[in-house]
Amino acid sequence: MNAGIDIFMEGLKARTPGEAEFHQAVLEVVESVWDVYDANPRYKQAKILERMVEPERTIMFRVPWSNDKGEVEINRGYRVEFNSALGPYKGGLRFHKSVTLSILKFLGFEQTFKNSLTTLPMGGGKGGSDFSAKGRSDNEIMRFCQSFMTELFRHIGPNTDVPAGDIGVGGREIGFLFGQYKRIRNEFTGVLTGKGLGWGGSLIRPEATGFGAVYFVEHMLKEMGKEVKGKTFAVSGFGNVAWGAITKINELGGKVVTISGPDGYIYDPAGISGRKVEYLLELRESNNDVVAPYAEEFGAKFFPDAKPWETKVDIAMPCATQNELNEADARKLISNGCFLVAEVSNMGCTSDAVNYFVNNKFTFAPGKAVNAGGVAVSGLEMSQNSMRYNWTTEEVDKRLHLIMQDIHDTCTKHGKAGNYINYVKGANVGGFVKVAEAMLAQGLV
Ligand code: GLU
Repeated sequence: MNAGIDIFMEGLKARTPGEAEFHQAVLEVVESVWDVYDANPRYKQAKILERMVEPERTIMFRVPWSNDKGEVEINRGYRVEFNSALGPYKGGLRFHKSVTLSILKFLGFEQTFKNSLTTLPMGGGKGGSDFSAKGRSDNEIMRFCQSFMTELFRHIGPNTDVPAGDIGVGGREIGFLFGQYKRIRNEFTGVLTGKGLGWGGSLIRPEATGFGAVYFVEHMLKEMGKEVKGKTFAVSGFGNVAWGAITKINELGGKVVTISGPDGYIYDPAGISGRKVEYLLELRESNNDVVAPYAEEFGAKFFPDAKPWETKVDIAMPCATQNELNEADARKLISNGCFLVAEVSNMGCTSDAVNYFVNNKFTFAPGKAVNAGGVAVSGLEMSQNSMRYNWTTEEVDKRLHLIMQDIHDTCTKHGKAGNYINYVKGANVGGFVKVAEAMLAQGLV
């Protein structure tokens, strides 16, 4: 490794001990942009990278609420307002038992570059809580959301910080959060995205992450002279993102044979289409966080405690969570004939897996490029809210298409060497330069 990067990372680790996921996300970006940083005295003098890895503001708070038995429960709430050089802080809220400051810092850091890639005016942020909806009633989820917003409201606003969903936060939770914000502030504004269609939401927002990811894969395939039609896909997860991706893959004539949950994965060689896709939404609404019931419902195979990457497919799209695909999985996929991996989850692949792909010139694209369609349509929801107007499905979908194409162009511009496109480098450099230039222009803030 480069000595400059070593020194930079040592400094970061000393200041942020124990934040392994955050260090992983920073290292990936720093390795990609180091040449650009080193060659640009303006960036170095202004200590742009050192500033970028320090969130502008970190908020941590107590979330007390009472469960259905009347017992008091306490969770921890967070909002990491990472970077506002390009616009109001923008990024989702994650409610999951695994949530820590390190997880939200890695997500907020990545969000800054992802949002930059979308071309829309959005800074980066992320928040959430260690609350898990598993086994909770809708009333408990509502009381938790109300308590969470009772503190968060003072830190956010349509021109300040605009949260949205992420793992564990979908339309239902956004509804409860929005209701409480409106009640406290007495304002109906675009303070959250992912809202319901009848009350300020945008068409295509629920589908956007998955749709955008498949549009991006279409561009990757085009570079290889291939198309989605006739290809077999392994998808992980079973939530909103997997649902959107599977819907679009089916529309384009591909076949998805796997989904997964924390309990294992489903192999359905007949293809996950039609009613099976809608069933994913039912699984999520059950608040059980399992996929095994799919096997009984549709007569498919369930592999407990295993990952879908052992399946023979053409294309893999991890859609679940960070570090869900490691080097051994990468090797298995490739030895089974897989020729493209598009990361849809944020940091879905371990550093070893990413290095293995890139060192072997395997076609791989990182989450911050592939999944940016979700936050991009959130940006379009903000625009529509500001105009107090709603675009049609066609209008939003057209803009999403253009944005994904633009991100692919940026990755190619900064990542192409010979006939290999290093999408990791392309996405990181493309996202970084725009943020760096804005920070320089705005002075020492
Ligand atoms: N949580 C999503 C992401 O990781 C969406 C964020 C948003 O729409 O603000 O990008």
